[in-house]
Amino acid sequence: MAGEFDLWEEIQRQESKIQWLAGRHTDPVKRLRYLRKATAIKSRPKRWKTAALTMFLVLLIAPVYHATDSRRQTQPLMGREVPPPQFHQPPDQVAEVWLVERKAAYEVYSNGLRIETGNSIPHDKRSYASVSRSSGRLRTDGVQPAGIVYHTTESHITTFEEGNNARLQRVGQWLVEYVKRQRSYHYVVDRFGRVHRVVEEEYAADHAGGSMWADQDRIYLGLNHSFLGVALESQTTPGADMAEGITDAQLHATKVLTEMLRSKYGIPSGNCVTHAQVSVNARSYRIGNHTDWAANFPYQRVGLPDNYQLPLASMVFYGFGYGQEFVDATGSRMWNGLAKSEEHMRQSAAGQAISVPQYRTKLQQHFRQQMAELPESPGTGKLRTGRRTR
Ligand SMILES: [Zn+2]
Repeated sequence: MAGEFDLWEEIQRQESKIQWLAGRHTDPVKRLRYLRKATAIKSRPKRWKTAALTMFLVLLIAPVYHATDSRRQTQPLMGREVPPPQFHQPPDQVAEVWLVERKAAYEVYSNGLRIETGNSIPHDKRSYASVSRSSGRLRTDGVQPAGIVYHTTESHITTFEEGNNARLQRVGQWLVEYVKRQRSYHYVVDRFGRVHRVVEEEYAADHAGGSMWADQDRIYLGLNHSFLGVALESQTTPGADMAEGITDAQLHATKVLTEMLRSKYGIPSGNCVTHAQVSVNARSYRIGNHTDWAANFPYQRVGLPDNYQLPLASMVFYGFGYGQEFVDATGSRMWNGLAKSEEHMRQSAAGQAISVPQYRTKLQQHFRQQMAELPESPGTGKLRTGRRTR
């Protein structure tokens, strides 16, 4: 029939035009956005034409998205899967950093890092849970730090000027003593850029609460045990350009500390992230239970790629979402990683012909099952309190 022939020609014309235009977007998220927009039908042809064209173009989108992930790793979870977006930054060189001198009160490293060690203490022995992304198997015997979480101390900030030296020193000292009592972090970087070791690296610190992160190989559940906590003495105003009180000395010290820890433990750059990126509330299935460094962590200044580009394991694998408070905390800069995670959820739901809320519910059930399989372990902490929510 003439009508069918016209339609086929129309589809072929649109396909080549859309593919060519989509190819101009190198960013997978932008390409998907373009394709979704491009496939919205503007004119109103006969209803069967609309249905046929929509079906065809929906099928067209999926392979383009697949082609953006060369590893094509899938979760052995359910039916037709859309491969998760990349969970790592491109391979990067970690400069070798070595210990030069160790005294009772400090350590000095080859990259200029000096660590004050007079306040360091042990805490719970590290033993953490993680899930293999290829086999889906749980492991609970992790002992080597797998990443770093950056925090702000949210402590009192006084004016940074010479006349205030005594007060600045006193406040910094109180802070270190407080962190020591609470076992809150492995490291505190004060406003003069001095690095204080508090909880020793071979132990867990109570820094991340309910939290998770993923790299290309594993999903880490409960980062108190698997990631090291580094806190910068500062205070956050939601949505502000920079945490209050951050000094150049602090950023330099955080950079050399990060270099040393990455060199020592072989930590990939994509596993060096902020508390807001990893924090979750397992009761409400919301991310960003803590919002320190929800925006504007100066990744470049501390020698790292922009890890706000990375998707969130909590959303992609377990169906977590976020509320307005979190959007407010991120300010005007919405992360590409959040957009990627949302896009992935929409694609996966479409691939299974279910709604996004239904897809999220399936992922949340999967999360509860995994948590139930985990043996009682201090490493998973607040994640085990997850329960069903609507
Ligand atoms: Zn924090």
